[in-house]
Amino acid sequence: MTREKRVDNKEKKEKRVDNKEKRVDMNKNKRIDGRGPEELRPIHIKAGVLQRADGSCQVEWGNNKVLAAVYGPREAKPRHLQDTRKAIIQCRYNMAAFSVSDRKRPGPDRRSVEISKVMSEALASVVFVEQFPRASIGVYVEVLEADAGTRCAALTAASVALADAGIPMRDLIAACALGKVNGKVVLDLVKEEDEGGEADLPIAFIPSTGEVSLLQMDGHLTAKEFEQALSMGEVACKKVYALQRDALTQRYGGEK
Ligand code: ADP
Repeated sequence: MTREKRVDNKEKKEKRVDNKEKRVDMNKNKRIDGRGPEELRPIHIKAGVLQRADGSCQVEWGNNKVLAAVYGPREAKPRHLQDTRKAIIQCRYNMAAFSVSDRKRPGPDRRSVEISKVMSEALASVVFVEQFPRASIGVYVEVLEADAGTRCAALTAASVALADAGIPMRDLIAACALGKVNGKVVLDLVKEEDEGGEADLPIAFIPSTGEVSLLQMDGHLTAKEFEQALSMGEVACKKVYALQRDALTQRYGGEK
């Protein structure tokens, strides 16, 4: 190992220890950024932010900044991708090289392919895909700044962008992440909590039916903690849903 690499690893280790120390302060019941365990970061959602896309949305969620753009429905190409019964949702999640403090290697990686896949599946559960046989709906998400919970911010933005494009949908999808830090279930982790915590559980709901459209888990939770996380997540997603609807109302008017 070169000297440079050793110094680099040492710095990373020190950063991890530092992050661990900054985790939830159990006595004060407060977290690294002063939030309570069930408190979301500030969220701002704006629909219709891009001129050239059919639909778009920008979400600022704490220190996350995410842009979603939708094109379509249009004929799926190459033709072997076409489904004669329904449209396919082709989602591409991308994290910009400048979105994290250490430059991220540009281009697709295992993580972005996985997130694109789970997002496509979640969005297909709300779009009336049967109305557009042989078509493709392209959903492009660029993460401009990342501070954990980006797949949830991305899914939240993508569903507003789909609605902004006028694509018929059963409902929006609202998402947020939960996790376990210092033995306690908390909502909406920041990066330091995500790295130092015991579990990370991104979850997305279809608010009108209460169906879960995305659920992943990294780490360990007991059955009781899992139940607690699910119910905390459902409450939080309803708050996110209200903000999504506000963003669409602001753009198009109508009842809230
Ligand atoms: P999510 O962003 O949905 O929580 P992860 O749990 O995989 O997804 O990632 C948590 C955070 O770790 C990201 O939001 C980002 O801040 C950081 N991160 C992820 N991938 C990289 C990477 N390749 N380089 C640097 N930081 C990264």
